[in-house]
Amino acid sequence: MKKINVILLLAAFLAAGNVAYSGTVASPYQVGNWPGFRTAAISYTFDDGCSNQFAIAIPMFNEFDYKLTLFTITGASPNWTNLRNAAAAGHEVASHTVTHPTLTPSNEVAELSNSKSAIEANVPSQKCVTIAYPMCVPSTQSVTATYYIAGRICSGSIEVNTPLNFYQISSIGCGSAGSIKTAADFNTKFANTASSKGWCVFLIHGIDSDGGYSPLSSTVLRSSLQYLDARRSTFWVSTFGNVVRYIRERNDVSVAETSNTGDSITLQVTDTLDNTIYNYPVTIRRPFPEGWQMARVSQNGHEVKASILRGTSVNYLMFDAVPDGGELCSQKPFTVMLRTVTL
Ligand SMILES: [Zn+2]
Repeated sequence: MKKINVILLLAAFLAAGNVAYSGTVASPYQVGNWPGFRTAAISYTFDDGCSNQFAIAIPMFNEFDYKLTLFTITGASPNWTNLRNAAAAGHEVASHTVTHPTLTPSNEVAELSNSKSAIEANVPSQKCVTIAYPMCVPSTQSVTATYYIAGRICSGSIEVNTPLNFYQISSIGCGSAGSIKTAADFNTKFANTASSKGWCVFLIHGIDSDGGYSPLSSTVLRSSLQYLDARRSTFWVSTFGNVVRYIRERNDVSVAETSNTGDSITLQVTDTLDNTIYNYPVTIRRPFPEGWQMARVSQNGHEVKASILRGTSVNYLMFDAVPDGGELCSQKPFTVMLRTVTL
């Protein structure tokens, strides 16, 4: 009886979640729940193209080197130059449909596909892979999945570290009409996200007096970034799309050691996902090899950032690797070389 229950639970979870855990990570390697083995993830998403998102939020986020997401209404004459500049700085330009209707089976295909193609035509440096549903009403999931890897709703909760449904990812409204108005409101959500090891997505429209819906104070926005900046080893702040990429990759990635000569270790890091979309590096660690003083990590001959992560009882060698190594549409595995360096 117990066994049957377990099987049913697993089946229900997989059916509801679009979640695949197909990877195998060989011992002693571990893949971080979040980049750098941080505790929690935070995304700031901005809707409707309100003017202070460009005049205030983007310069502020650039100052902290944090990336945000701009959910853009493509039929509302967005400023494409501003959006191209934002994308060049690493921010995400994503869809908020063409005309901002409540999505229905009769309008959803045109709204979803035309907004995506308009963004990809006008902001060619990135792919448009996520959507925020107008009025938080999701489109038909099978239709959404044709065009996007994830969609945002507004149910006001903090997501677990793998959302049950990538097409209904919760967000928390900010500003005068939202539940997050003050610096203390932000800090409470940050603390709750860290204790649940989850992902918190904020939804912002207006900033100060730009005329946007539910304006948030820029002073409060800044203080939230200062809080996170003081806790960089705990919180990963990134775009909505990159957090989705990371989650899907860390749940799918396989890590295998293919050789270990004592002074050189070779790994294969692969996944089964579409490499044209899923190209974000995942963080891997292993106990620091015995007898090594230093390590250099390279992927396909290019050195990648590696660091020593000091644990309570063991020190780790930690590094980032892109599953399938950026060889677009190729199944060829890449290798990560670890070797000692003569001091
Ligand atoms: Zn909107």
